[in-house]
Amino acid sequence: MGLILETEGKALFRKYNMPLSKSILVTSAEEAKDAAQELGLPVVVKAQVLSGGRGKRGLIKLAKTEDEVIQHAIDILSRTDEKSNKPVTHLLIEEGADIAQEVFVSMVYDSFTLETLVLFSTEGGVNIEELAKERPEAIDHFRIPYGEDVYGYTFMPTLAKRGMKGKAKIVTGNIIATMVKMMEKEDLSLCEINPLVITKDNDVLVLDARIIVDDDSIFRHKEREEYLSEKLRYTDAEAEATAAGLSYVNLGGEIGMLSVGAGLGMATADLIQEFGGTPLNFLDVGGGAGEEKVLKALDIMTRDEGLKSILINAFGGITRLDQVAEGIISAKNKLNLDVPLVIRLMGTNQKEGIALLEDAGLAAYEEMEPAIEAAVKAAKGGQ
Ligand code: GDP
Ligand code: MN
Repeated sequence: MGLILETEGKALFRKYNMPLSKSILVTSAEEAKDAAQELGLPVVVKAQVLSGGRGKRGLIKLAKTEDEVIQHAIDILSRTDEKSNKPVTHLLIEEGADIAQEVFVSMVYDSFTLETLVLFSTEGGVNIEELAKERPEAIDHFRIPYGEDVYGYTFMPTLAKRGMKGKAKIVTGNIIATMVKMMEKEDLSLCEINPLVITKDNDVLVLDARIIVDDDSIFRHKEREEYLSEKLRYTDAEAEATAAGLSYVNLGGEIGMLSVGAGLGMATADLIQEFGGTPLNFLDVGGGAGEEKVLKALDIMTRDEGLKSILINAFGGITRLDQVAEGIISAKNKLNLDVPLVIRLMGTNQKEGIALLEDAGLAAYEEMEPAIEAAVKAAKGGQ
């Protein structure tokens, strides 16, 4: 959970009768062309990725002809979203709007004061960060206590001061009030529309949706477990690790790092860097892990590209180190571990663990720092 896709955010908005353009989710240029025929030109081709600022990175493009739809779809589907580091696999094809004015509305829940902090500006669009820095006075602020009824007219006088009139002002005020209600009813931690547009025909349209759902409320919204954003959030290796109860992050360095306990893992990553090395990945098997988990973690670790050495840092509290040793030995037998392996074991059943490793022809350190130093050296080819 966390950030959801624009198309999922817009589905939530539809439930509250917010004004939206028609749109169709597709996964190929062929489907994009069909969608454009159904919607009518022009359309906007929008990458569905778990990051913002797509417009500035060429991941949102207006298409006025069928050829442009196909070209933009091929182009965007060949891209990797550098912010989330995931390939673009889904596009939202949306009816193009004739924009006269862009409005920004954003709200977050402040769990300290139990209020929804509402921000908006009648000068929205892709340059909102610059506006916030250069002319913060162009952004209006409200704080709404959690659970308080809120109506559109709360915001209308401020919108009027900013030059909005008539229907545009009324609809915009009502949209902001609906978003405040959604924060509570839908358990959102962030709800943002940028831009909310006033069209040349004086219609108001929600063009973008950036929503973060509160992870702790998932039991009230079981359907969110099936969201496409949940599948796109993880690589195959991350999904496999999560299913096995492991924490796994690829960090792009050289040393495969397995720890027992996340805190120890973070300390290990810091120390690797102190000694001049770089962690390739962070794999934590958690307290109480047995042979199976250790084997699985090493299996996932060794599939990452760039592995130069492996460091296993195990402190046995509830975890039994003889079981950790069994996992390491079974990985050595079953996997292709063709890089230097450095092991540190300290704690519960340490003696038994070290004896098992020795029988299998493996050595272990007791102290952490010499082990880390050895793993860094080995990664640099100095073993
Ligand atoms: P973001 O950059 O990830 O926030 O993506 P948005 O959905 O906000 O799109 C970026 C920008 O593309 C918007 O601020 C608009 O200026 C523009 N845009 C999006 N949809 C349309 C549309 O239907 N018509 C036109 N003319 N521009 C659009
Ligand atoms: Mn936007």
